[in-house]
Amino acid sequence: MPDTPFFEVNEAIRSLGGEDLNLCMQCGTCSGVCPWRNVETEFFIRRLIRFGQLGVEGSESEEVLFGCTTCGRCVDNCPRGVAIIDVVKGMRAMGAEVGAMPATLKAAAGSLESHGNPWGEPRAKRFDWAKDLDLPPFGPDTEYLLSVCCTSCYDARSRKIARALVQVLRAAGVSFGVIGTDENCCGEAIRKTGNEEAFGRLAEANVSLFNGRGVKKIIVTSPHCFHTYTKEYPALGGEWEVIHHSQLLAQLVADGRLKVEGKVAAKVAYHDPCYLGRHSRIFDEPRAVLGAAGATAVEMGRERDFSLCCGGGGGRVWMETAHDQRFSVLRVREAAEAGAEVLATACPYCLTLLEDSRKTEGFEDSLEVLDVAEVLARAIPPA
Ligand code: SF4
Ligand code: SF4
Repeated sequence: MPDTPFFEVNEAIRSLGGEDLNLCMQCGTCSGVCPWRNVETEFFIRRLIRFGQLGVEGSESEEVLFGCTTCGRCVDNCPRGVAIIDVVKGMRAMGAEVGAMPATLKAAAGSLESHGNPWGEPRAKRFDWAKDLDLPPFGPDTEYLLSVCCTSCYDARSRKIARALVQVLRAAGVSFGVIGTDENCCGEAIRKTGNEEAFGRLAEANVSLFNGRGVKKIIVTSPHCFHTYTKEYPALGGEWEVIHHSQLLAQLVADGRLKVEGKVAAKVAYHDPCYLGRHSRIFDEPRAVLGAAGATAVEMGRERDFSLCCGGGGGRVWMETAHDQRFSVLRVREAAEAGAEVLATACPYCLTLLEDSRKTEGFEDSLEVLDVAEVLARAIPPA
């Protein structure tokens, strides 16, 4: 960051909806509860905020400026109510103005611009994951739009989440349809990198697309899409009934619309994704789905509000993280130590990072990483 006067930093952050940096009294609670305290790092959010207050660059590197995963723990614990994530977004936006942005984030932003997804994949391939599924197009008589996260559209492992969900929705007779290749990334993560322009373009395109098709209800497969659709799109004219798939599956089971005939005879630990749990207060439904599937719950510690971030939020899913700094490594170790045979979650980012760490930590034969939809799909008869 340049040597910017304090008032200019404050103005920039305010313009992004952030709180006045003066609210911060430098108590350090935020740094203390931050998941980065579990590993060796230069990242201390209190210090970053101090630099913001002073309006100086200090010695902060790109790695520090883009270190925050926006997990929300500090926000929940700050005694002064500082909107820390908005402050981080503002500081990143200022950094980006002078080119301080990791190359992988630049690449993701470029891909969003040209393909509508962050993974550098052609728009035309967005629904390749469902080529053989004969998914119905969303129409006037369809109840739900099924909006699938970019990660589950393109990543080979993550596609299995979407496929399992389709299997369960069909078994329950849910009326759903898809829009297809015109859909764009929700823009949640790119906004957290401070790139308001990219977010605005994606969001406006999606809002106009969904409204134009007469969408009223949406099933989302990612807590990040859930956050954006429920908390950020209403201001842009997108006001729909949005449901995360874990909520819908729990509802279908409770209403008796889904006959669960089998039993998943495994010890299952559940990892609360930050954006489903802390940010959206959805804690019970994914656990209810696992219970309905017959799983035996195993507690890892650091549950619900205290869940350990996987490390993928805030755009970090697109960044390289050194092996000894990966929170997902700690998480799979916790699951294994608790005696879990399955580590379940309900977020494509969490699943990707936990799946990777399961392999690097040598748990390939002893621990599976699954989405709650995949666990439930194992307990219903095949289509
Ligand atoms: S917890 Fe809040 S008041 Fe304390 S240092 Fe962090 S941002 Fe400042
Ligand atoms: S949002 Fe999470 S990762 Fe970011 S500074 Fe706060 S506690 Fe740390």
